Amino acid sequence: MFRTLMRCRSRGHRLSSVGACLMLLAACANSSPEAPGQQPVSPTIPLSATGSIAPTPPIDFAGWRNQFRQEALAAGIPADVFDRAFAGIEPDPAIIRADQSQPEFTRPVWEYLESALSPQRLAAGRRMLAQHADILSRIEQRYGVDRHILVAIWGLESNFGNNMGDRLVVRSLATLAFEGRRPAFAHTQLIEALDILRRGDVATKELVGSWAGAMGQTQFIPSTYNSFAVDFDGDGRRDIWASAADALASAANYLRESKWQTGHRWGMEVRLPESFDYALADMSTRKTVAEWERLGVSEALGDAFTTSLSANPATLLLPAGHKGPAFLIMNNFRSILRYNNSSSYALAIGLMSERLQGAGEIQASWPTNDAPLSRSERMELQERLEAGGFEPGGVDGIIGANTRQAIRRLQQSLGLPADGYPTVELLKTLRQN
Ligand code: CA
Repeated sequence: MFRTLMRCRSRGHRLSSVGACLMLLAACANSSPEAPGQQPVSPTIPLSATGSIAPTPPIDFAGWRNQFRQEALAAGIPADVFDRAFAGIEPDPAIIRADQSQPEFTRPVWEYLESALSPQRLAAGRRMLAQHADILSRIEQRYGVDRHILVAIWGLESNFGNNMGDRLVVRSLATLAFEGRRPAFAHTQLIEALDILRRGDVATKELVGSWAGAMGQTQFIPSTYNSFAVDFDGDGRRDIWASAADALASAANYLRESKWQTGHRWGMEVRLPESFDYALADMSTRKTVAEWERLGVSEALGDAFTTSLSANPATLLLPAGHKGPAFLIMNNFRSILRYNNSSSYALAIGLMSERLQGAGEIQASWPTNDAPLSRSERMELQERLEAGGFEPGGVDGIIGANTRQAIRRLQQSLGLPADGYPTVELLKTLRQN
């Protein structure tokens, strides 16, 4: 399992289905949306016997492929499987362009949610719940994962199987392993993809997916597929491309293995009291629901939390800072993050699962005047935080945990609500100092 092939996992399709690459929503811990199960892989650096970095000679694709073939065979891939998979394969320039694009502008979380929870997607989700009711019942019984969550994932990942990507996975990953930004990661996934072919679940030309190698109705990357895909319809093949039963059960299996708690909620919208300490809204801060309640947190409609929730650990999430909606998120939210490490994604799944059960829209409104910072503004913010001694942990344009901590320190020093949320206003304040 891993986690970050592409920052804007153009999840190719999948993002386009949700509307855009929502990389880097300020609310998210590592907020890039990614293929299910991706995790960071550090690039391998060739070391000579003495431990110094050996010069890497330039090599063409054919030379790379021959070298890689040796490795694949040594890893147990039969020569005929490798040669069939690589027949006629050349690098795909479109994939390199996608891999290198670092969008300047980011969609705000509210636009992402509006697109994710569009009336069309919700209507299609309701149809799918009816159409696949029997399969979903059996999957719930077997894996203990709520059908509404599964249908929401299905809807966001591939628009219920309508938007899976049709690029040859071997070609995509070979391109990225040969000249992508994260070759070691692509290299590992390519071996995994060849292993899928070795096992015979799918034919070479049917092994298709997004440019980043996310495959099928669940958009699994190859290693996630090898670890978690299941044959639920019993035809002997794990077919997450053509079989909705296999795809839904594979997603359920992955969530179960990510510590899904049967019958638990993902979280809920909450209301915060006046003069709340917003520094508590951090993924690293967990308190029981009862403790949050003692701090004045209540359900969004003002009701008390049900007592069955009291002992549950929960984290406060402010996806758009203190001016926007607040959510208490629980363990199942973290399981969804294992599927795709973006809190906006997990929030969309949680909210969609409720909308599919008849819930209305959230209570609070979004601070639509606070547009997200552009990439260059984020980098400038980090530079200025660094210059001011607030320790954002480097300048990469990504608002991660360290940058949010630095923003909180700045906000505290200015007597502002310490929500760790970057705004243009805050950047302007920094420019004046
Ligand atoms: Ca099957």
